Amino acid sequence: MLNDTLKARYDRQIRLSQIGLEGQETLVNSRVLMIGMGGLGSPASLYLAAAGIGTLTLVDFDVVEESNLQRQIVHRQATVGLAKVDSAKATLHEVNPHIQINAINAFLSPEQLLTLCQQADVVVDCTDNGFSRTAINEAAMQAQKPLVSAAAIRWEGQLSVFDGRDPNAPCYLCFDPQANQGGETCDAQGIVAPLVGTLGVMQALETIKVLLGKASLIGEVLLFDGLTMTQRKFKLTQDADCPVCRARREKTTD
Ligand SMILES: [Zn+2]
Repeated sequence: MLNDTLKARYDRQIRLSQIGLEGQETLVNSRVLMIGMGGLGSPASLYLAAAGIGTLTLVDFDVVEESNLQRQIVHRQATVGLAKVDSAKATLHEVNPHIQINAINAFLSPEQLLTLCQQADVVVDCTDNGFSRTAINEAAMQAQKPLVSAAAIRWEGQLSVFDGRDPNAPCYLCFDPQANQGGETCDAQGIVAPLVGTLGVMQALETIKVLLGKASLIGEVLLFDGLTMTQRKFKLTQDADCPVCRARREKTTD
């Protein structure tokens, strides 16, 4: 049960018929694993913390650099040189001292990643390269957890939810079979600051909806173009040759 302080704090969400007291209690009792405390992870973590997600586990192995501050708004000039997870934890606790934040400053092994996914209700991929996305997808699908995935570059972004709970739902590798070759990065291609903010905020929104059982992007990809302010969605189906999904299907028929 929420005490009066928390009821007042989350009042504007509790007022929504889709959330209410029960939904807010669900959020407060939820555990979200966030990997990457950069351009996507900054706004996503700020909103998830403010919205009252009870436990956030933050993972990153980087330190804050001057060139991050253009878009990674959870970090501060004063935290340049610090581990990103420690910098983010300090800001998030200023925003909301009522939540638990675990900071993991490490490059995770596949086994560590799997364990953290198993402990989470939702996995949020805020990384910036195909290698990490491939590893996170594999772990989240194996752990049978929903994965909220976003990517942003230049003026464009994409967002989707890959539902590890459903062995017939598509995964990230179905969407991008070449992902493990790395792909383009913002470091090389550039990115306009609010674009990555937009995608990170939408990622937080979809994460809250997953926790409430109201996710709308399962099996769909949303594409957003910040230069023309247009967005479109397309349906995604499972790739029959996807090795990650094949393993999931076989697991359920065991
Ligand atoms: Zn797949």
